[in-house]
Amino acid sequence: MESKWVDIDAAKYIELYKAQGEDLALRTYTSRLLGLDPALVLHGGGNTSVKTTQLDDLGRSIEVLCVKGSGWDMGNIEPAGLPAVSLLPLLEFRVLEKLSDEDMVNASRRNLRSASSPTPSVETLLHAFLPHKFIDHTHADAVLAIANQPNAEEVCRKIWGDSMGIVPYIMPGFFLSKAALDVYEQNPTVQGLILINHGIFTFGDSAQQAYERMIEKVSLAEVWLERSAAVPVPANTQLENRDDKLAANCLTVLRGCLVNHADGFGSVILHQRRSSQIESFLVREDLADLATRGPITPDHIIRTKQKPLILTFDENSAAFKAQVEAQLDAYVSDYNGYFSQQCRNKQVTRTRNHPLPIVFLIRGLGLVTMAPTVKAAAIAADVYEHTIDTILKAESVGRYQPLDQSHLFDMEYWSLEQAKLGKSKPREMEGKVTFITGAAGGIGAATAHYFAARGSNLVLTDLAGEELANLSLELRTTYGVTVIHMSADITDEAQVSRLVARAATSLGGLDVVVSNAGLAITGPIHEATEQLQKSLQINLLSHQFLAAASTRLMLLQGLGGCLLFNASKSAFNPGPGFGAYSVPKAALVALMKQYAVEFATAGIRTGAVNADRIRTNLFDTDLLKARAAARGLTANDYFKANLLGLEVTARDVARAFYHLYASPKTTACVLTVDGGNIAASPR
Ligand code: ZN
Repeated sequence: MESKWVDIDAAKYIELYKAQGEDLALRTYTSRLLGLDPALVLHGGGNTSVKTTQLDDLGRSIEVLCVKGSGWDMGNIEPAGLPAVSLLPLLEFRVLEKLSDEDMVNASRRNLRSASSPTPSVETLLHAFLPHKFIDHTHADAVLAIANQPNAEEVCRKIWGDSMGIVPYIMPGFFLSKAALDVYEQNPTVQGLILINHGIFTFGDSAQQAYERMIEKVSLAEVWLERSAAVPVPANTQLENRDDKLAANCLTVLRGCLVNHADGFGSVILHQRRSSQIESFLVREDLADLATRGPITPDHIIRTKQKPLILTFDENSAAFKAQVEAQLDAYVSDYNGYFSQQCRNKQVTRTRNHPLPIVFLIRGLGLVTMAPTVKAAAIAADVYEHTIDTILKAESVGRYQPLDQSHLFDMEYWSLEQAKLGKSKPREMEGKVTFITGAAGGIGAATAHYFAARGSNLVLTDLAGEELANLSLELRTTYGVTVIHMSADITDEAQVSRLVARAATSLGGLDVVVSNAGLAITGPIHEATEQLQKSLQINLLSHQFLAAASTRLMLLQGLGGCLLFNASKSAFNPGPGFGAYSVPKAALVALMKQYAVEFATAGIRTGAVNADRIRTNLFDTDLLKARAAARGLTANDYFKANLLGLEVTARDVARAFYHLYASPKTTACVLTVDGGNIAASPR
């Protein structure tokens, strides 16, 4: 590991944040350097501080501690993420015998310089008590491979000599702050501290010194691990995820079992990962032992839970389902046992977290994580990939021995730690997956926006073109959902099947299908046999391909589902010269009803939207003008020629699709969205 400190970059930070002062500017710079290296910290882990001065309201200089605030990630931290706390009142706490976590947090909040600052780190007192100007703290993988050895202290001495103080494991908070200070005072020449089972602190008079000491100390650990390894730990190369039908089936079954479990907590998505290290971990004979010993640093327990669930890939979906159900039950009962045992031992009452696993090690498939959002699942996967790396390194030099269950329980059920998980109310379609065809067009794009705004992840398809990629980017950035997009010819059954499988291999399954793609094909019906054949492909059979593949997946998943079709008013009210379009659309309504009849018992609902006169690229401008002119109307009046006299938009159609999805007791339903057109009303 090498220092990434660059003088020119440091100078840029000083210039950029000159209003906040040089100390805070450089603190921001090196915090980011640490935060951007996943071998040091992951997703909000670690913290940093600087002691500096600020002016109070009367212009007097006062000493402050700027320390990482909760909710900030070091990789993209701003000075605002390092709130200033008055230092002197915090130092007075050193004389106390004890201080509760709540009182400690209250004290740090009460001494904030700005009332609107985020809550300072739970390790604020540790940063305050130590006298150094800059203090850096990480959960570096290499350090954890050593700090989780049964003889960690002995190994630490070998690697760092007396340059680092060693602090036995104590949960973050007041007692750890006092213990860290004691260790430092026994040898004030130490350049940092190793916290057994937890991580590493380094100190410095300057931002550069504290940061470069972190790099130096972690590098010493890396070199020692490499030299001492009995067997070399394989390098970690990312591999392509399995993206075939069998993998899709396996993930879909797992998702269904999780959501349907008696302790399920709503919809979730699954995230799949493969790498050379994951592969080498999964084939180990001691996998079950190694993987269930516990997390590499207690902080991670809220991301990954204490243990993953180990499964074996099975091509036979029914057999795999039976395996998952049995293993899930065993996992949950083990978790419940741990929870009640710890509550009894500690004589406390706690509200139990969900008892389901978050991480799955599936032999023959890879690492899979589950969460209500793709982001949370990806974080769990990142954390677990580093867990595997650290366990492999620890085992290569000795024995991986993390904290015991009692300490892990304290962390898992620590009120301050749970607060990190966020309290935002989930969006109504969080954890859902919606598949939309013809997504680049007016109605498809409007529907994608409507569902994404409600938190649904999306799988979008359309013909090749830039629009689909642009739309996907816009949806991701606007709504923070995951969007998978693929150009495809949906009249090709094999392509459609692959797309449906992709929904499962990328997100774990499928909940809603909006079968929207269509093409207006015209011509007098007695001359339109060829056109009708083409139209049947795109306006009927492509819908069947998608509905059939989706239904097969939904049946495996066992969570019901929703198949929605864009039927158009032509299904009920054919227009002259539009037969090649109307006939397949009428059949599409029949198709929708057929699926309703055959799969209602599996909870699969269907519906169709019967829309008319939407400004989309379905009709080219000349055709539109001709149709309007045929009725003696301008194009604008043509769009308002309905009972309500209101133009119907693509968003109105999107809302109708959503209402069909959101009405759990509605199936085989045609929802008309045309501003009122009696001739086209279903009868
Ligand atoms: Zn920590």
